[in-house]
Order: sequence, then structure tokens, then C-alpha cells
Amino acid sequence: MPPRPKVGQIVRLLSLHYPAASCSLVFRNAYELLIATILSAQCTDRRVNQITPEFFARYPDPYAVSAAAVDDIKEKIRTAGFFNHKARHIHACCRQLVVLHHGEVPADMEQLLALPGVGRKTANVIRGVWFHFPCVVVDTHVTRIARRLGLTLASSATQIEQDLMQLLPQASWISFAHQVIQHGRTVCLARKPRCENCPLRKWCDFYRKQK
Ligand code: SF4
Repeated sequence: MPPRPKVGQIVRLLSLHYPAASCSLVFRNAYELLIATILSAQCTDRRVNQITPEFFARYPDPYAVSAAAVDDIKEKIRTAGFFNHKARHIHACCRQLVVLHHGEVPADMEQLLALPGVGRKTANVIRGVWFHFPCVVVDTHVTRIARRLGLTLASSATQIEQDLMQLLPQASWISFAHQVIQHGRTVCLARKPRCENCPLRKWCDFYRKQK
């Protein structure tokens, strides 16, 4: 368990350096956030934001998606990567929203996880960003950076989520993920982290071991 002052300093420095960090997907409601998050797997948010305006114009709600042919959905999301897979998930997910939830995106974790194509990360994005429940989103950036900083030794996203929830003040759960994701995109890169430019290096286990 890392010492509390270290955790406090990391939270403080992230807030200082990334005060405006937020979800970079563009959405207007829970349905749009859900579809954008499913599309964002193995795809940049920028690319998703290029795809979704036309997608939502054609399919403004789960009813429109569930009435569509999967092949038509594929055409609309072709540039998102893994589009065959994602189109099938989006179609099945929207059908389930229509059949079980009157076309609404549920806030309940179990109901979210029961939707095709929705894993824990996507469920936490919906619950945290749209419904404002306290939760920690664990994506590839959060996994990498939490481990480098020494905030967790775990490799499974579920355990990392649990570790971070134990360590971090609840008020920072949502912002922590947004800030770490921004840090991962700009400084703590996967292959070549820019440690010399990193405001967190004093508190980073990875940096200390490199020296
Ligand atoms: S010091 Fe290096 S490894 Fe540690 S958080 Fe910063 S960029 Fe990442």
C-alpha cells in the first residue's frame, strides 16, 4: 500500500496540471455516450468523434439502431476498427435496451454489464460521466500509469479499480481517470514515457527504478 502523502501528492499534481481534463468523446445523452464508448475500444476518441455525428443523425436512438440491418451499421462505423464486432455488439445492445429498458440506458451496474459489448470500463464511463456515480474508470492508460506510479501491483482491471478506490479520495475518482488518461496521451506514453518532463516523477516507482 503506497503511503498516504504520496497518493495525496499525485492527486494534487494531476489536478494542478490537468485541471480541465474531462471525457473527450462528444455526446448529448446516455445513449450517445454508450455508443461512443463502445466505438472507442482500440480506436482514438478523435476518430470516434468523426464517426458519431453521421451515425447519430442516421440512428438517433436505440430504436433506430435495433431496426437497422447490421451490415448498414458496419458501413457507418467502418473506420473505427473491429467494425464487424462492434456493429454486432451495438445492434444487440440497442435491441436489449429497447426490449428490457424502454430504450433507456440503465444506471445500474449489473444491468449495464448485461448489455452486449459493455464491460466494466464502459459501464463505469456511463455511470461516472453521465450518471455522476463515484467510480474509477480503468482503461489502458490508467492501468499502465497506476502500475508505474506504484499505486497498484495488480494487472487485472477489476483489481486495479478496487485498489484505486481504496487509495483515492472518493471525490477524485472520476477526475483521476480523466487526468491520468490525458497524462498518458501526452507525457507517460506507453513505449517511451517522457519522465524528464513529468510532474509526477518524484512520486513514481518506475522513474526511481530507472535512475
Ligand atoms: S515519471 Fe515517467 S513513468 Fe512515472 S508517471 Fe511520469 S512519465 Fe510516467
